[in-house]
Amino acid sequence: MMRHSNLPDPQNRLVVFCDFDGTVSRRDIGYHFFHHFSGGKIQKLIPDWKAGVMSSREILTREAEMSTVHQEEVEPFLEQFEISPGFVDFVTLCEQNHVPVHIISDGLDIYITWLLKRYQLERLPVMSNTATLDSGRITLQFPFDNGACERCGNCKGERIRQYRQSHPGTNVVFVGDGMSDLCAIDEADILFAKKDLENYCQANNIDYVPYHHFPDVARWLLARGYLQK
Ligand SMILES: [Mg+2]
Ligand SMILES: [Zn+2]
Repeated sequence: MMRHSNLPDPQNRLVVFCDFDGTVSRRDIGYHFFHHFSGGKIQKLIPDWKAGVMSSREILTREAEMSTVHQEEVEPFLEQFEISPGFVDFVTLCEQNHVPVHIISDGLDIYITWLLKRYQLERLPVMSNTATLDSGRITLQFPFDNGACERCGNCKGERIRQYRQSHPGTNVVFVGDGMSDLCAIDEADILFAKKDLENYCQANNIDYVPYHHFPDVARWLLARGYLQK
């Protein structure tokens, strides 16, 4: 839990960074995407990734190799996925407060862009890995990977550090749910965590704010003066 004596000054500018899979999207689309299009073959890779034995760049590359997917199969598959409850209202609230909301994901642009568009949220800046499809094969690109982080394909910690350099004195809020968020922990001034990320924080004695969905995040930030109604 967040030690309330350590909270950053509400007078500072605020920026919100959100993980995508399982945070902005209700379910982990990346996982379901590769599980579906590999016919379940990727399942055996998951324990090594969660244990940190395999980097996310490595696991994504292996998952892509195990999968066959044609362009015309993508949209019908994605129809089943939804944005998390309250996320659209949360973005509106942030925009009314001139607080930018960024999505940083170690997943893939092909489903992120599609889901955001479906909810008229395509204006949100997205930093993610990218995928191209060609006759059933998926080719991945890692435009943000510079080899500095061994764990990530697109390192959330690095993205936040870069943002801070060009926006000094900003309070950074990070909202996440899983093991792809670990590098963001040290960089966030206010960390909202659930599921695997929450378990990790508890096991490692890290300050965080528990939440279920975005209305909880909004309420917490409103109650402490970081956002106004
Ligand atoms: Mg996630
Ligand atoms: Zn990293």
